[in-house]
Amino acid sequence: MAENGARRLEVYRAAGSVLPRGLYVHVCFCSSFCRYCDFYSEIRTPDAVAAYLCALERELALVCPVVLRPATVYFGGGTPSVLLPGEIEALLRIIGRAVNLGGVEEMTFEANPESLDAGKLRMLASSGATRLSIGAQSFDPGTLCALGRRHGPDEIRRAFDAARTAGFRNVGLDLMYGAPGQTPAGFRRDIEAALSLDPAHVSVYALTVEDGTPLAEAVAAGKVSPAPDEHMRAMYLDACDMLESAGLLQYEISNFARPGCECRHNLAYWRRAPYLGVGPSAASFVGGERYRNAADLGKYRRALAAGKLPIVERERLEGERAAREEVILRLRTREGLDLDDLRRRTGLDLAEVQGDAIRTWIGMGLARMEGSRLSLTRHGFCVSNSILSELV
Ligand code: SF4
Repeated sequence: MAENGARRLEVYRAAGSVLPRGLYVHVCFCSSFCRYCDFYSEIRTPDAVAAYLCALERELALVCPVVLRPATVYFGGGTPSVLLPGEIEALLRIIGRAVNLGGVEEMTFEANPESLDAGKLRMLASSGATRLSIGAQSFDPGTLCALGRRHGPDEIRRAFDAARTAGFRNVGLDLMYGAPGQTPAGFRRDIEAALSLDPAHVSVYALTVEDGTPLAEAVAAGKVSPAPDEHMRAMYLDACDMLESAGLLQYEISNFARPGCECRHNLAYWRRAPYLGVGPSAASFVGGERYRNAADLGKYRRALAAGKLPIVERERLEGERAAREEVILRLRTREGLDLDDLRRRTGLDLAEVQGDAIRTWIGMGLARMEGSRLSLTRHGFCVSNSILSELV
């Protein structure tokens, strides 16, 4: 159900001084669909992009942009880099007209190797982008093929070098482990190949088999098998060892960076700071409420053409539920959370209500307590799903 824009304005007013400092822009286009992916995206066509930009401008106009002065802007997708240079310019113009970009400290652009070229990169660098996050996934041709990626390893290297030549210092690579047929030795070669490029940031994600994807169908038909748990664990721990040995420090379950190159936009998310998301399927957290736009370009456009926001889901967490959400988000990070501070701010005394569990995790080497600060160890990150589910 789309809702009237005026509701959103109320949310902003209610938010008072905690207006979002993070802006997420969902660019819902790809040049083809990867076999494992269940993110919302459409195949790029000039007409669809034009319609998207027009609707995005309407959405931004409806959500009271005059008050928004983001510190971080994150263009994610989909694949933002499939936009043509003129379309990227139009997108940045629309954002720049709608919000005050004068205080932006970090602007991230997600990209796929095959859709980055020197001209696009120069234009992005001169428009204020400070970080590039390149979806490499693997340097092995067979693994890339199994994942349904469009690029080969040489295109990753070419895109990375072009980004450096265009002046980007903070260039990151996304890698995936657990692809069908991938072995721990093969994934170690991927990490070595990534490190040979000297990235400022590396994200390492486990492949998950999502319902409704071609990968899930192939698994159900017995054509491919997900990597066994012991391989997944070995691959994750190898990645932690190799990346940290190379000076990329782990600051979140899946993220490693040279000091100072952490993604501030995502760190704010894990600290449960408010953010505004625009574009089809984008999520927001404003005024204590989480909500999500329709994951369908047609529905998104129609709602906005009728002067309504395309919000289809909303949830307000309060009291202990909000505090527990903060625990779960913050325990994803190396910094963890200060239990005394949590108790003072929210009333939730985690040491009291989860004391036995926390002592057990510490005894098993899965968590550590420094003063009143609780955080997970690397082995705790490895089993974070089961640890965090105990806290919900
Ligand atoms: S993984 Fe990225 S490039 Fe592939 S279909 Fe999903 S959003 Fe598009």
